[in-house]
Amino acid sequence: MIRIKKKENCCGCEACKNICPKGAISFSPDEKGDLYPIASDDLCVNCNLCEKVCPIITPIVNHINYNPKAYAAWNNNVGERMKSTSGGVFPLLANIILENGGYVVGVQYEDDYTVSHTVISQNEELKKICKTKYVQSSNNGVYTQIKELLEDNKTVLYSGTPCQVAGLKSFLQKEYENLYTIELFCHGVINQIVFNRYLKSIEKHSKSKITSVEFRNKRNGWSKSATVVSLENGTEYCKSNEDEYLMGYLRYNLYIRPSCTDCKYKSFPRVADLSLGDLWGIEKLFDNHDNKGASAIIVNSEKGALLFKQIEKGLFIKEITIDFLKENNPSLVQSYRIGKYSEYFYRKFQKTDFIDLIQKIKYKDTVSSKDNNFMGKIMITKNYLLGK
Ligand SMILES: Cc1cc2nc3c(=O)[nH]c(=O)nc-3n(C[C@H](O)[C@H](O)[C@H](O)COP(=O)(O)OP(=O)(O)OC[C@H]3O[C@@H](n4cnc5c(N)ncnc54)[C@H](O)[C@@H]3O)c2cc1C
Repeated sequence: MIRIKKKENCCGCEACKNICPKGAISFSPDEKGDLYPIASDDLCVNCNLCEKVCPIITPIVNHINYNPKAYAAWNNNVGERMKSTSGGVFPLLANIILENGGYVVGVQYEDDYTVSHTVISQNEELKKICKTKYVQSSNNGVYTQIKELLEDNKTVLYSGTPCQVAGLKSFLQKEYENLYTIELFCHGVINQIVFNRYLKSIEKHSKSKITSVEFRNKRNGWSKSATVVSLENGTEYCKSNEDEYLMGYLRYNLYIRPSCTDCKYKSFPRVADLSLGDLWGIEKLFDNHDNKGASAIIVNSEKGALLFKQIEKGLFIKEITIDFLKENNPSLVQSYRIGKYSEYFYRKFQKTDFIDLIQKIKYKDTVSSKDNNFMGKIMITKNYLLGK
C-alpha cells in the first residue's frame, strides 16, 4: 500500500490511482494544497501495484539508446505561433497525429479553471490544449484511457511534465510502438488551490468575474509576454514581469511542489521522445528574430526523430547543442530550491488576499535587499578605514 512518508517522494502523477484495481486510492490536499495519495485500508488488497508503478519509488529505467539532438525552431505559421507559448511546435506535432486519425493528450482549463489532462481526437479541440497553464494538472484518469487506446492500436501523442511522462510509462509497464511522448522543460508545478486563490484575488480587486485566463500572451512580444486575465466588466488584468502569480513562482520560488525541488527526471537520457521548451538565449544565435516565440527541441529517440521529420516543412530549424540549452535554460537540468519567503507565504496564505500577500513579500524583499546593500556599504567603508 502506498504511503508517502516524505513529500519529496511523490510527484502527484496519479499513476497509483490509475492502476489500483480496487479504486482504493484517492488524492487529498495537504495544508499547502498539494495533492497526495491516500489508500483506503478497507479496499486495499495489498497487491502493491501502486508502489510498482510509482515513478519515484520505482524509477523507470530508460533503455533509449540514441544520441539526442537539439534544435532551435519555430512554426512558420505566425498566427499559430502567437497562440502558443514558445515557438508553436506542439500544435504542429499534434496536427500530424490528429490528421492520421490518432489521439492527442494535453492540458486544458475546465469551466471553473480547474487544470486537467484531456484526450482529443479532432483538430477543432486542439486550441484548448495549446498554451502553458502554470498549474499542476489533474490526471483525470487519462493513463487508463491511453492504455485502452493503445491496446486498440490507436496512435497516441501524450504531452506533459517529465514526471507525468514517467508516470505514464510506469503505469503502462511496457513499450508501445504507437505511443509518442513529449515532455516540457519544467520549472516546477503549482497546485490548484494556490491558483484558485490568485484568481479569486483578481476578481476581488477588479470587482468583476473572470472570463478567460492566458499566461504568456505575446501581444507585446514573446520576451515581454504577459499574463492576461479578461473580466466580465470588459477590463483586463494584464501584467508582464510584475504578475503576482508568476513573481511568486519564478522570482521568489514560494510554492513549487516539494518533489520539484529534487526532480528525478531532469537528467539524460530524457524520459520522453521529444522535449520542448523556450529558446532562451536566442539573441546569441540570431540577430533579427521577430520576437513572436521560439522553441528549444530535443529529439531523444528514433521515434521522436521520425515524428519530428514529419513537421520539418512547417518549421524554421537550426541544429544547436544540448550544452547551449543547459547554459541558457537551466530548468532543463536543474531543480529549484524553495525560496526564503515560502514559509511566510503559507503562514499568511489562508487569511490574506493573494495579490496583497505577494506585494507584501515584494516589499519585504526590497527592504531587505536595501538593508543588505546598506550593511554591505558599511562593511566596505569599515574595511577601507581599517586599510583592509
Ligand atoms: C508547469 C510548466 C513549467 C514550464 N517551465 C518551463 C521552463 O522553466 N523553461 C522552459 O523553457 N519551458 C517551460 N515550460 C514549457 C513551455 O512553457 C511550453 O509549454 C513549451 O515550450 C511548448 O510550447 P509550444 O509553443 O511548442 O506549444 P504550446 O501550444 O504552448 O503547448 C503547450 C503544451 O504544454 C501542455 N501543458 C500546458 N499546461 C500544462 C500543465 N500544467 N502541465 C502539463 N502540460 C501542460 C499543453 O497540453 C501543450 O502540450 C513549462 C511548461 C509547464 C506546463
